[in-house]
Amino acid sequence: MASESILVINAGSSSIKFTLFDVEAGEVSLHYDGRIQPDTISFDLFLQPSVGIDKEYGGQVEGIGTAPKFKAKDRDNELVYEETWDAGERSSGHQVALEKLMNWLDDHLGDTTLIGVGHRVVHGGTEYAAPTIVNDAVLQQLGDYTVLAPLHQPNCLAGIRAMLAMRPDLPQVACFDTAFHRNHPLVADQFALPYELYEEGVRRYGFHGLSYAYIAHTLPTIAPELADGRVVVAHLGSGASMCAIKGGQSMDSTMGFTALDGLPMGTRCGNLDPGAVLYMLQEKGMDAKQIEDVLYRRSGLLGLSGISNDMRDLEHNPDPRAAQAIDYFIYRITRELGALAAAIGGIDALVFTAGIGENSDMIRARVCRAAAWLGIELDEAANSQRAQRISTASSKVAVYVIPTDEEKMIALDTLRLLRP
Ligand code: ADP
Repeated sequence: MASESILVINAGSSSIKFTLFDVEAGEVSLHYDGRIQPDTISFDLFLQPSVGIDKEYGGQVEGIGTAPKFKAKDRDNELVYEETWDAGERSSGHQVALEKLMNWLDDHLGDTTLIGVGHRVVHGGTEYAAPTIVNDAVLQQLGDYTVLAPLHQPNCLAGIRAMLAMRPDLPQVACFDTAFHRNHPLVADQFALPYELYEEGVRRYGFHGLSYAYIAHTLPTIAPELADGRVVVAHLGSGASMCAIKGGQSMDSTMGFTALDGLPMGTRCGNLDPGAVLYMLQEKGMDAKQIEDVLYRRSGLLGLSGISNDMRDLEHNPDPRAAQAIDYFIYRITRELGALAAAIGGIDALVFTAGIGENSDMIRARVCRAAAWLGIELDEAANSQRAQRISTASSKVAVYVIPTDEEKMIALDTLRLLRP
């Protein structure tokens, strides 16, 4: 029987990540993985084993500022295909990059039928609590949410628009970073602002929803007793947030109206008294663009340390400000952990995920030690070996490290929608 596959696209301003999943018995497994760089029109394609997912084997961005280049590599990282063309021939980077990808896939899918494309979309507004097949009306409504995510939404939609123009008969599915949080309680959705603002959409949407949905989907396969449990997930990457999950549903998260709120991040400030924004505006005479630059690009670990936005650089830097930036990061995580545990009436498990959560045993250890009062007992050896469970057998709260896989979540969501 001919097999089926699902393509996942994650379109950013200067790159498009893509992943091809094989569909087998209602599950998806990784097939190809790579990235497109529309600015330079360069992308790598890595052939993946159809079983046994290993994301570390994925694509890398290369060739910024170089001539357009398409490369395909096999599972042993051997180059199997390469194509170059003139970067200046067309204006739309997304369009050309996706055309190159689709042409290559057409030649290499063989017996496999591409049944749909899943797109990561940052904002689903108040309407979209689940993945949705995109038509013109949906596309228009998603375009209206650009005011809520001006830096990201246009790129997400550019990828969908290009695919719809190229393959009008191929279902394009939007999967939202906000959707997982859409059913959280009203008290977790509101700010104490005039109600008209809530009604026009000034709400706590929460983000990283595809990552949390993946963890909520995966955790019960590792620890079935936690399926109905109270779990706090710490997604600690260059963007960072935490989510309180009860019975598999998001109840609250640290991110709010935008992806600025909550934890300090690589370059984003996290939780902030809005009075500080008024001060920059009124006393320092900064305009909106300058303040946006401070809040999104010059704050967080970079702003605190003055050294780097990357935890790896800070962990090994003897400068006291590097240590202070890490102290602040740990402090805010442990504060939010207590707050989120309170929001769901206690905590049965803590899960670490994303770049820092998956890789930094130091950060995990410090958070767990600071949270001993919650009944967390760290197994130091398991933590330094990055075991899946890093709490002791007697710990009242189980602690796990689970690598997130947002692309796989998109593929699963797309599959569920297309093959209910
Ligand atoms: P993004 O939000 O861009 O998807 P990731 O989840 O890939 O981010 O996380 C990237 C961050 O993970 C890096 O900025 C770095 O700070 C951190 N990181 C990756 N590996 C390590 C490591 N071994 N030790 C500490 N931090 C790490």
